[in-house]
Amino acid sequence: MKPHVVVLGGNFAGLASAQKVRELCGESVRITVIDRKNFLLFVPNVPAEVFEGRDPSKTLAMDIPSTLDEDDIGFIQAEIKAIDPDAKRVDFVPNERPGAAPESMSYDYLVVAVGNRLAYDKIEGFAEHGHTVSDFYYGNKLRHFLAHEYKGGPVAIGSARFHQGDGTKDIKLYGGHAFPTAEAACEGPPVETMLSMATWLGQHGKGGPDKVTVFTPASLIAEDAGEKVVGKLLEIAGGMGFNYVNEAKDITRITKDGIELASGKNIEAELKLVFPDWVPHDFMKGLPISDNEGFVVTDVTMRNPKYPNVFAAGDAAAITVPKLGGIGHAQSEIVAKQIAKDLGKMAPAEADKPLEPVVYCIGDMGNNQAFYIRSNSWFGGPDQVLKMGHMPFLLKMQYKNLFFKTKGKMPEWGLDASKLLAEKLFAA
Ligand SMILES: Cc1cc2nc3c(=O)[nH]c(=O)nc-3n(C[C@H](O)[C@H](O)[C@H](O)COP(=O)(O)OP(=O)(O)OC[C@H]3O[C@@H](n4cnc5c(N)ncnc54)[C@H](O)[C@@H]3O)c2cc1C
Repeated sequence: MKPHVVVLGGNFAGLASAQKVRELCGESVRITVIDRKNFLLFVPNVPAEVFEGRDPSKTLAMDIPSTLDEDDIGFIQAEIKAIDPDAKRVDFVPNERPGAAPESMSYDYLVVAVGNRLAYDKIEGFAEHGHTVSDFYYGNKLRHFLAHEYKGGPVAIGSARFHQGDGTKDIKLYGGHAFPTAEAACEGPPVETMLSMATWLGQHGKGGPDKVTVFTPASLIAEDAGEKVVGKLLEIAGGMGFNYVNEAKDITRITKDGIELASGKNIEAELKLVFPDWVPHDFMKGLPISDNEGFVVTDVTMRNPKYPNVFAAGDAAAITVPKLGGIGHAQSEIVAKQIAKDLGKMAPAEADKPLEPVVYCIGDMGNNQAFYIRSNSWFGGPDQVLKMGHMPFLLKMQYKNLFFKTKGKMPEWGLDASKLLAEKLFAA
C-alpha cells in the first residue's frame, strides 16, 4: 500500500503542501486533504476589493475539490475534531449536511495546515461596534457600513495582542539568530488598511489621513518588517497626517464611541477596524505536538521533533511569526521536500535546507498605489527593502491573477520576477 499523506486544511498552506508533495513524490503516495469549506479564501485581496466597493466573494474564492483533483489528490469536506499522533489517526465529522456520524482516518504522514482562529469573539463589543476585512462576511459588512452608515467621523485601526507561545524558544535562524518575539500576529493588514482608508476618505470627500489613528500593542508597528523600513513608513505616514499610537498593549473593549486599550488610553472613533489575536484551534491545545498555546512545534525543516512523521505549515506552525501566507508557502515546499527525502525521492542535502523566513508584503494603498516590503532583518537576515508606487499595485493584482490562473501553483519565477520589477526596474 502507498504511504498515505493526510493534509489538514486546504487554504494557502494546505493546498501548497498537497500540490508540492504530489510534484516531488509523484504517484508513490496517496494524498488526502480535509477542510471544512470547499473553497480557498484568498484573504490578502479582501481589503482592496472592499475599498473599491466590490463584493470580495465574487472574485476571491477558488474551488478546492476540482483544483486538487487535477493532481489526483482526494478531498473530504469535514470538521476536524482531533489528532492522535500515537495512533497516527485523525477524527473528523463530515459537514456537507448536519447530522453526519464521526469518522476516523489513519495516516503515515500528517501535515497540519489548519491556520488559526481569528479570535474576534475574545474582543468585547466587536460584534456590535467593530469592523474588519479578514473574510467575505466581514468585508461585506464593512462595505455596507461605508456605503450606507458611515458619517465621516474618526477612524481607529489596529491589532489586539498576540500570544506567541513557547514553541520557538530553541529555534535559531539565519545561522544562529535567536527567534524573535512578536506582540501582534500580522501587522501588514493594519498598515495597508490605514493607507487605503485614507485614500477612500479623500475619494469620497470625507477627509484624509488626519482622521485615521493607527495603533499597535507593540513599541513599533509591523516591527517584523525591520526598523529601517518601518521608520521610513512612519515618517511618510506622519508627514501625510496619520495619527499613531504605540504601546497600546491590547484591545480591552470596543464601544459605540471608540476603542479602549489595555494601556489605559482610549481612541475616539466612529469606525473601529481591528485585527484580533491569532489563536490556535481548541482541538490543537494540549496535544503532544503542540506548544503551550496550541501552535505546532517544528524544527526549521517543519518537522515535529517528537513525532517525525508530523509536519506543520502556515499559520498553525509555531515557527510562523508573523502569520504570513508567504512564509507558509515557503514552509509547504520544505514539508514536501522532507517527505520526498523520507521516501528516497530527494537527496538530504537538497531537502534539509532550513527555513529562512522573509517578510514579503505588498499592501494596497488605494488609488492604484501600493507599498512593497521585502525584509528578513528581524530574523537575523541582511535585507530591508521598501518601495511604493503603481508597480507594486500591479504586482499585487497580478499575483492574485497568476494564483487563480495556475490554481495556486505559482511558478518559481513568480516571486523573483516580482522582486526584480518592484525593486530594480520600476518602483520609485
Ligand atoms: C486582511 C489580511 C490580509 C493579509 N495579507 C497578507 C499578504 O498580503 N501577504 C501574506 O503573505 N499574508 C497575508 N495575510 C496572512 C495570510 O492570510 C495567512 O498567513 C494565510 O491565510 C495562512 O494560510 P494557512 O493556510 O496557514 O491558514 P488559513 O488560510 O487560515 O487556512 C486554514 C484552513 O484550515 C481550515 N480549517 C481550520 N480548522 C479546521 C477544522 N477544525 N476542520 C476543517 N478545516 C479546518 C480552514 O477552513 C482553512 O481553509 C493576510 C491576513 C489578513 C487577515
